[in-house]
Amino acid sequence: MQPMNEIPFETTLAEYVEEMLDSCTRCGKCVEACPSVEPAGISDTKSEDIIGGILELVSTGNGPQASRKWAQSCMRSGACIKACNYGVNPRFLLSMARLGIAKSDNELAERRRQGIEKYRDGSRGVNVLSHLQLDTDALERLGQKSASVSTPVEAPDFVFYTGCNVLKTPHIALLALDIMDALGVSYQVMGGPSHCCGILQLKSGDAEMAGRMGSSTMEKLSHTKSGQVISWCPSCYVQYTETILPTVERQRGSRPFEMSPFMRFLGDRLAQLKPHLQHRVEMRVALHKHPGVAGVVEAAAEILTTVPGIELVDLNQPAVGLQSVDVGVLPKFKRELQLMELEAARDAGVDALVAVYHSDHRELCAHERDWPFRIINILEVVGESMGLHRHDRYKELKIMQDADQIVADCSDLIAKHSLDPSNARDVVMKVLLGDQPLPLRAGALPEPRARGVAPS
Ligand code: SF4
Ligand code: SF4
Repeated sequence: MQPMNEIPFETTLAEYVEEMLDSCTRCGKCVEACPSVEPAGISDTKSEDIIGGILELVSTGNGPQASRKWAQSCMRSGACIKACNYGVNPRFLLSMARLGIAKSDNELAERRRQGIEKYRDGSRGVNVLSHLQLDTDALERLGQKSASVSTPVEAPDFVFYTGCNVLKTPHIALLALDIMDALGVSYQVMGGPSHCCGILQLKSGDAEMAGRMGSSTMEKLSHTKSGQVISWCPSCYVQYTETILPTVERQRGSRPFEMSPFMRFLGDRLAQLKPHLQHRVEMRVALHKHPGVAGVVEAAAEILTTVPGIELVDLNQPAVGLQSVDVGVLPKFKRELQLMELEAARDAGVDALVAVYHSDHRELCAHERDWPFRIINILEVVGESMGLHRHDRYKELKIMQDADQIVADCSDLIAKHSLDPSNARDVVMKVLLGDQPLPLRAGALPEPRARGVAPS
């Protein structure tokens, strides 16, 4: 709950933004470093002019076309943050520019309606796809049933914050928990639509509702011994560390917790992890990379090379975006990148293309059908070495490529969870099968696998 007499979130956010605008010198270095500029077709406009227009968009919601285009083509790669020598976070400024545009395009009632609709659609996809794959015990383990969202008697060391969308590929989240169990880490799981970070509301231009949702979830996440929340989702991580927590810190003078991405958390515990990596995993692998959260790619590479038997090869492909879904602001560019990476993985003769994030897995995994290598999550590699296995039901269903067959195959869980089969089919069509930016190669048969482990 917001303490009485506290300045409203939106007011404090506006002050925070104002301070950042004052610090920006309009040098344009952030624009020069940004991998979105070229594919967005604005590289002919001067960098200084593009950032100048962003400042106008943030303040008034109006600004030149090239700046609007930049704001809307931001893949949240974070290259701009590293490029700025003045302590400004241009990625955050771009999100505030998009907020300014949304506010000038629509009245609050319409923005709120859009935010609610996006939240409902998102929740529906997460709820149906997780229930099509998990029994009640597994849902409970992931914090999706009442028993496990109640506050434990003793505060855990950490909260593991899943966010929403990893629940669509639950084997990834369950492996994260299995690994933490093996390491003896005490944690409470929180996430799912009832623990929304507010990103959908912010994207719809409703900063007040985004602040309310993010702050209410923040209170729930605040009860740990270590003052640390481990986050799975990079989108939640950016929403908390770049918008919610800095604003709340201004409101209250302190932050209720710090957030760490799971990969960095695991990377920091390599010495503890090593004795658990008992089984050799004889695979030549390549890492699918997104650089948006600092240190995650590096931690993932270090973790992979610590697994006995793993040979990590570099495909020398562009690494952009916060996670795959964020590259969707430039759809043609994304398709080209994904195809180039699949071809490079084939040419390098890898046994597996290994991704970190859940949206990477959703978008890429069905290509396994058509290419001579597996497409897996990094935690499957770590898990295999630790003797931990979680079946990738998401990929199994998606490779069927037939909504009726998928629904029939899930009929037990549909009955058990009292799901409406026609609603389930609709979600399978739109959310499971529809999440395919680079189309599968129609009719292609899998080529023989060169080496390595049997497909999952
Ligand atoms: S955000 Fe930083 S890098 Fe970008 S123009 Fe302003 S001062 Fe320069
Ligand atoms: S976050 Fe990335 S894509 Fe967005 S503006 Fe910065 S460098 Fe460009």
